[in-house]
Amino acid sequence: MNVNTNYQNISDSYLFSTIAKKVNEFAENNPDKKIIRLGIGDVTLPLCKAVVEALKNASSEMGVKETFHGYGPEQGYEFLKSKVQAYYEDNGVNLDSDEIFISDGAKSDLGNILDLFAVDNTVMVPDPVYPVYVDTNTMAGRKIVYIDANADNNFLPLPEKSVKADIIYLCSPNNPTGAVYNKEQLKVWVDYANENHSVILFDAAYECFVTDENLPRSIYEIEGAKTCAIEFCSLSKMAGFTGTRCGYTVVPKGIEDGLLNKMWLRRQTTKFNGVPYIIQRGAEAVFTPVGQKEIQENLNYYKENAKLISEVLKKHNIWHIGGTHSPYIWLKCPDNMSSWEFFDYLLNNVQIVGTPGSGFGKNGEGYFRLTSFGSRENTLEAVKRLDDFLK
Ligand SMILES: *Cc1c(COP(=O)(O)O)cnc(C)c1O
Repeated sequence: MNVNTNYQNISDSYLFSTIAKKVNEFAENNPDKKIIRLGIGDVTLPLCKAVVEALKNASSEMGVKETFHGYGPEQGYEFLKSKVQAYYEDNGVNLDSDEIFISDGAKSDLGNILDLFAVDNTVMVPDPVYPVYVDTNTMAGRKIVYIDANADNNFLPLPEKSVKADIIYLCSPNNPTGAVYNKEQLKVWVDYANENHSVILFDAAYECFVTDENLPRSIYEIEGAKTCAIEFCSLSKMAGFTGTRCGYTVVPKGIEDGLLNKMWLRRQTTKFNGVPYIIQRGAEAVFTPVGQKEIQENLNYYKENAKLISEVLKKHNIWHIGGTHSPYIWLKCPDNMSSWEFFDYLLNNVQIVGTPGSGFGKNGEGYFRLTSFGSRENTLEAVKRLDDFLK
């Protein structure tokens, strides 16, 4: 056999292992110092009550002959798909049920969708970026072109007429920067994609953090998107499903006269046997009025954390974006420090751990990501330390 040599081209990510190593070293040498982690990209609040109740009930059903469920539909049970459909409808977006595919999360689908596209397609990725887009395409051997997200464009790059690509990744609200495209900006992307016969892979994993009604939570709020965009969504950040696993992907029938929708159904029915019944019942509960109210409380908790961090940065004149419609705060390292210099500076002086922006791409150098996924207590303590130290 011959191995897929494309794997040799994936760059090793030392980001999180280097962070862990530095933090462990510091902890060993300073056992009396309490370290606060604001680098985490995982939620910390538990599943809401409505979800837990639904999971329990569904588990019980599985133990009774009459209500037991074996293989389900690969694309998801109708009871959940109709909830997702209604969720979009509330947002003014009408989707057919067979355009919605339930999955075990956005990350797998973002990788799996590439089955549908030829290897000789060129891929466009904004830098800095969620590493999954780059690595999955490198594994497949596709050519990647980068577009610059930087302070000049508020980390919201728009297409350059001279740069052509077949597959375009957009993530809004963005990880790592927290930046959110407005409708006019997304319209530019949609028009560009339709003109160039490109497909947009729109990662909406953080849509639930958008509260400004004028900002789009789905790319389908933009006219023309249903002929060029696939949208990926997840209950991970929305409802704390990072360990429970459930998401959904929308493949509109308007792209290529329904070809991509058909191919994705074929792909899923061939390679995927669906999300567990129990989990889909838990996911269903997220979309009930009680579930929505409960997850909103959790989202508000994170948002309040973000606000506290943002306020202290503002007070000390540290340039930053994000935090308003995102759990991420993206700041410019003060005194022209590099991302890693600032990492060490914070760890050594105030024992706060964040994520160096350079780990997300070359344009991340000199920037730093803090997250609001910590506890309120730790966030308040971190804010106080920053306030005292930055004086
Ligand atoms: C967390 C995250 C996801 C969600 O991934 P899941 O596999 O659904 O947990 C997707 N995209 C981005 C950018 C993320 O940060």
